[in-house]
Amino acid sequence: MRIVLVGPPGAGKGTQAAYLAKNLSIPHISTGDLFRANISQGTDLGKQARAYMDAGQLVPDEVTIGMAKDRMAQSDAVNGFLLDGFPRNVGQAEALDVMLKDEGVKLDAVLDLEVPEEEVVKRIAGRRICRSDSAHVFHVTYNPPKTEGVCDACGGELYQRDDDSEETVRTRLEVYHTQTEPIIDYYRAQGLVVTISALGKVTEVTARAMEALKSDEG
Ligand SMILES: [Zn+2]
Repeated sequence: MRIVLVGPPGAGKGTQAAYLAKNLSIPHISTGDLFRANISQGTDLGKQARAYMDAGQLVPDEVTIGMAKDRMAQSDAVNGFLLDGFPRNVGQAEALDVMLKDEGVKLDAVLDLEVPEEEVVKRIAGRRICRSDSAHVFHVTYNPPKTEGVCDACGGELYQRDDDSEETVRTRLEVYHTQTEPIIDYYRAQGLVVTISALGKVTEVTARAMEALKSDEG
């Protein structure tokens, strides 16, 4: 299957992408991983991306599109993939259509994770990370540590990342609304969008997504 995963920040997109890709036996292709891989391997695209990032500028679409194209050409992605973070605007979606058309293949579905805006703010702004290990993640409401401000796993201090402040979350949501949401309309016109609620436990959302993709196929 060829799937694009979309959803606002805080929808649990990265987590769901990993589970879904595993369940469907397809590679999970995330923009974050693409950037890290290209930069660490020093590819031409990685060098270009690095130059923009170092200058504090947004990486142009051509660079991101080039990285996605290279990745999708790798052997494990020939029969399918799950894209996470790409495309992030209509221009990138159009470029993806051209790429797929050139290969004579099509997307099977665009899975849209839906979360009410206030829930997104609550989810992200409540996140607390351990200073000793960023993999130790808690939430003041959904996954509180036994002692406030202290990591259960290692006793490290818990803090809120600047990126997770309510103000930053609202700005990120605004960017999502103006730049990324239009791709949902773009794909809806192609009859590809499958919307599911991203509320509930991680396993419940995965099950819901698998069910929706199955019935969409049939
Ligand atoms: Zn810790």
